[in-house]
Amino acid sequence: MNADVIVVGAGPTGLMLACELALAGVRTRVLERRTEPQRNSRALSLHPRSAELMDQRGLLDRFLPLGRTVPGWHFAGLPTQLDFSALDSRHGYTLFLAQARTEAILEERAHELGVEISRGCETLTVRQDADGVEMETRVPGGGTETVRGRYAVGCDGGRSVVRQAARIDFPGTDETLTGVLGDFAVVDPRPGALDAARARGVIVAPLEDGLTRFVYLDPERIRVPAREPVTLEEFRTSLTRITGSDCGIAEPRWLSRFGNATRLAASYRSGRVLLAGDAAHIHFPAAGQGLNTGLQDAVNLGWKLAAAVGGWAPPGLLDSYDGERRPVGRSMTENTEVQTLLAELTLVPQYQRPAAALRELLDQLLGMPQVNRRLADQVSALGTHYPPADPDADPLVGRRMPDVGLTAAGSEATRVYELLTRGRFILLGLAGDPALREAVDLGWGSRVTAVTVDKYDEHAALDGVTEVLVRPDGHVAWATRTTDADARAAERVHALTAWAGTPSSRS
Ligand SMILES: Cc1cc2nc3c(=O)[nH]c(=O)nc-3n(C[C@H](O)[C@H](O)[C@H](O)COP(=O)(O)OP(=O)(O)OC[C@H]3O[C@@H](n4cnc5c(N)ncnc54)[C@H](O)[C@@H]3O)c2cc1C
Repeated sequence: MNADVIVVGAGPTGLMLACELALAGVRTRVLERRTEPQRNSRALSLHPRSAELMDQRGLLDRFLPLGRTVPGWHFAGLPTQLDFSALDSRHGYTLFLAQARTEAILEERAHELGVEISRGCETLTVRQDADGVEMETRVPGGGTETVRGRYAVGCDGGRSVVRQAARIDFPGTDETLTGVLGDFAVVDPRPGALDAARARGVIVAPLEDGLTRFVYLDPERIRVPAREPVTLEEFRTSLTRITGSDCGIAEPRWLSRFGNATRLAASYRSGRVLLAGDAAHIHFPAAGQGLNTGLQDAVNLGWKLAAAVGGWAPPGLLDSYDGERRPVGRSMTENTEVQTLLAELTLVPQYQRPAAALRELLDQLLGMPQVNRRLADQVSALGTHYPPADPDADPLVGRRMPDVGLTAAGSEATRVYELLTRGRFILLGLAGDPALREAVDLGWGSRVTAVTVDKYDEHAALDGVTEVLVRPDGHVAWATRTTDADARAAERVHALTAWAGTPSSRS
């Protein structure tokens, strides 16, 4: 075996997954067809749940100084913003940060954790047998290498070779509409010069390296296929048509056309082959959700795959990746379709008037806190909930664990997400049970950290909770409100066995 897990693709999803696997002690190799990191950035946003995930791994301090935070984000380009700052998170903001920077930080972290990243290596075929996967890979210099691992994960983007080799269907709809983006070193410098463009629905955003990004939908060019290259002349003509001026653009660094083909993999797993990120879902980049969803796929999958490699995964754990993340992918792709439709209707002459009225109505609704919250929960991914199989489970189960501050017996003040940085399960005894650690160390000490909590910040979701098991990805595996210590101990053993596997005598 070359590695336990072969990750195909060093985009944000593949790099995040590699970090998660390596953190859990899995020998991981990443194969990336590009010889150099990407310089151009499609994505520009990290949403609240992604910021929380970075916080849970102790990485957020590397991201924050490089970007800038804004308190919300848009939905369908409506004027009223989604208010992330009203959500229950320490990270109720969007971090405006170019994708290339996100990838650079994750690649640096992957190297620190000992991941082998092989650039210039393009996966050509993938086969699997009872013991592992084997792939034919083109290597620098022109030859091929056979790479073998126990599992393979396709993080190789929308045209995923891994998905095709595993014969996983990718149902959905073809592209019917395209938008255009351009990054320019020179734009009209006069104060307020670009406001007219913004007022006409063109996204104009400063990038960190002095470039300015423009993104637009030109009604006369939306049927041009994404594969057709964009020229500077086309860009100027479209901007002038939409805004009345070419905005002084010059020195383009990147021009690109992107479409609304929307597809979701029929399964995220076929035997020893799994999919994550754009390899599993593609859609129009509405409200900036693709990269974020890929990072969240990776953090859901990493510990489960590590459990399978480590031989301690309880039955069904690895399949729960598909069970939990595909519904998220489905609702995310659906919300991008809604947003795209809202934009497209305003461009079709016979719908322009009612479409404007519909957008006005939706914008008013977004002004209502409950409506705003409903959409903000989804786009921020803070509302992601993995419904438990047991209908009698505590309401906390499947939700994100709140990042409450706490003090453990004999320790300094900390908070839940700081406890998660090693990627282990955390068992929090909120009823001050002194024997908790001993009880856990007996069987699960190698994968679960037990903490008897002396004091913790008040939080409505934790009212009455006496013990909670937090998964390595920060979601709640089990919680109880019983005050009977014996009943709690029995529930605890059941929960630990169900999630962290049978107790091992080595622990
Ligand atoms: C205009 C635009 C704006 C966007 N804005 C946002 C945003 O603001 N926020 C957001 O969250 N998302 C945004 N997205 C979406 C985001 O860019 C993608 O969802 C994200 O890049 C997906 O990451 P990934 O790692 O899954 O796939 P990719 O980024 O596509 O990475 C796949 C990697 O696999 C490699 N690869 C492919 N095939 C092979 C092979 N056979 N062998 C080896 N390597 C291979 C590729 O070279 C690449 O490095 C935007 C997209 C577009 C088009």
